[in-house]
Amino acid sequence: MRTKIPAFGMLVILLLSLCACRQFPGVTQPITKEIALQIAELPAEAISDLPTAPVTMYKNASEAYLCPLEDYSWERKYDPEFVMVHFTSAVVTNREDPYDPSALRALFVENGVSTHYLIRRDGTVLCMVPENRVAWHAGVGEWLEDEKYTNTMNEYAIGIELAAIGSETDMEKYLPAGAYSQLDAAHLGFTDAQYESLAALVTDLCERYRIPMDREHIIGHDAYSPEKHDPGELFDWNRLLTAES
Ligand SMILES: [Zn+2]
Repeated sequence: MRTKIPAFGMLVILLLSLCACRQFPGVTQPITKEIALQIAELPAEAISDLPTAPVTMYKNASEAYLCPLEDYSWERKYDPEFVMVHFTSAVVTNREDPYDPSALRALFVENGVSTHYLIRRDGTVLCMVPENRVAWHAGVGEWLEDEKYTNTMNEYAIGIELAAIGSETDMEKYLPAGAYSQLDAAHLGFTDAQYESLAALVTDLCERYRIPMDREHIIGHDAYSPEKHDPGELFDWNRLLTAES
């Protein structure tokens, strides 16, 4: 039988964890199986995989879809210097319902990749890997002609996936010819709610880690890895960063 943790006990745990995590500014709380069961409706398969160490995450994010951390991330050695923007969907296997978060999480786990945040179509922000751990989203690439960042961006970036489908060109290698025009138009591109949540999340990250909010530091996966097509042609950078930045 599971013991309930009284509210006072949770407060003590939260305060202790805030002290323990001063090197990573921001909202921190320990996620234990017992606490997670009380504060989030976790997918059953996630419960045995929850992290036991304190985690750092955006205060407005839900931890309901955390990935099994021991297998899909490792402890961060350096403070984040960049934010990388992506899109993701399950459109290859489910064209009618490409954004189910459980399916997206399962896809990440199956493919051995991970992200810190996933922003749903309604703007909900899900934390999948805490910020104080490295997530595997950037892969192979180069940035700022600095060898330090060659194929190592996971170590230096916070990854944000937007639940979205790009342009027909962006999706060419994922969909057979003719399939794109059959997709529900509501599934294409990015929603206003996503732009709003993304701007709030990126602003918060930039303040906490002192990351400049410009195109050198807030980067697309397609800018780092030329063979990638996300966030792609439909993403409006001017809605995230001012034209001068
Ligand atoms: Zn990507």
